[in-house]
Amino acid sequence: MHDPSLSHLTGQDPELAGLVEAEARRQHDKIRLIASENYVSAAVLEATGSVLTNKYSEGYAGRRYYEGQQNIDPIETLAIERAKALFGAEHANVQPYSGSPANLAVYLAFAEPGDPVMGLSLPMGGHLTHGWSVSATGKWFTPVRYEVRADTGRIDMDQVRDLARKERPKVIWCGGTAIPRTIDFAAFAEIAREVGAVLAADIAHIAGLIAGGAHPSPVGHADVITTTTHKTLRGPRGAMILSTAEHAAAVDKAVFPGLQGGPHNHTTAGIAVALREAARPDFTDYAHLVVANAKALAEALLERGYDLISGGTDNHLILIDLTGKGVPGKPAAQALDRAGIELNHNAVPFDPRKPFDPSGLRLGTAAITTRGVTPDRMPRIAEWIDDIVRATARGEDQAEKEERRVAAEIRELLAGYPMPGWAPVP
Ligand SMILES: *Cc1c(COP(=O)(O)O)cnc(C)c1O
Repeated sequence: MHDPSLSHLTGQDPELAGLVEAEARRQHDKIRLIASENYVSAAVLEATGSVLTNKYSEGYAGRRYYEGQQNIDPIETLAIERAKALFGAEHANVQPYSGSPANLAVYLAFAEPGDPVMGLSLPMGGHLTHGWSVSATGKWFTPVRYEVRADTGRIDMDQVRDLARKERPKVIWCGGTAIPRTIDFAAFAEIAREVGAVLAADIAHIAGLIAGGAHPSPVGHADVITTTTHKTLRGPRGAMILSTAEHAAAVDKAVFPGLQGGPHNHTTAGIAVALREAARPDFTDYAHLVVANAKALAEALLERGYDLISGGTDNHLILIDLTGKGVPGKPAAQALDRAGIELNHNAVPFDPRKPFDPSGLRLGTAAITTRGVTPDRMPRIAEWIDDIVRATARGEDQAEKEERRVAAEIRELLAGYPMPGWAPVP
């Protein structure tokens, strides 16, 4: 049963409703370990499914290009004020459609086409939009890429400093999609200041941990901060840009009219709801439990002989190099999905394999923590992962039986951990 209800959809479009129902059941029955995913609250679902989707409001509160903003202005202002208060930022823009457009707005605000821009290389844990070659950001700017150290799996800050001094990037990105360790925002800020670069912290993955005090904040170090709202922050799909007062006008102008038209007001409302949830004390508990779960899972995987990039985790995310297990990331991820454990194959630093068929797996604990799963369950989850990886390495026939067994055991476990937004009809 959906909460909020899908009664109209079920009546009018059974084909689509059936697919939504199947997706809800899938999300309910699986251990969702995709590091960028979560479960939003029913309140966030209600806000994003509201009549706010009907309204156009190009511009900013008090300066719109369409009439009828009596309610939209206070909604967007509420989201902005909550974002500023939660993160302690001087300025917030809540209009970017998602993380990638938010990052593009940063380029538009602070760089010219062809300028050198610096970010963590994609296979080392960076994001496409930090100047990877297939991205517009890698084509329109001159990317400079730093890496992690081979011996520690951690960002090579000496290389960051050397490259920054040599290449003089206009923008330096810190943050990424597969970084299991704490980001040293102060060290990045010192380097950016020295070379006159704008420091952009992309906290898409860790925003919820920062809000909950489980990861240091870039506020006070970074000139501009971008984040998605739908990962650990547990809001609707969307993004925000936080900045110092100094850069407020440049950021706003880049988002609108620089890059976008009308903001998605239903999303803005969902962001406002999520930010209020993230300001509550129970969200602080949640953020710390996300990290405790990741550490417990990492520990249990290490005990089973898994090779973790950087040897563990400080946040919600674990990166496994499967090379020693005799199975690449993709077949392992596919087998685990059939067995009820959803994660993604991922490149590992210095991966000898191709990006679409890499050596690693990426895991995160944001979603299962929302379900209420606690660290004492992590050894069992590591055991299931290990059972499937080993069965996959052994060969097809064995694997199928193991996958069915594990999937059934997982469904049974998760029946005790309700998900927001949907429950099976008893
Ligand atoms: C997820 C992510 C993005 C992009 O967000 P989308 O909403 O998918 O466009 C950008 N940067 C980082 C570091 C991310 O993890």
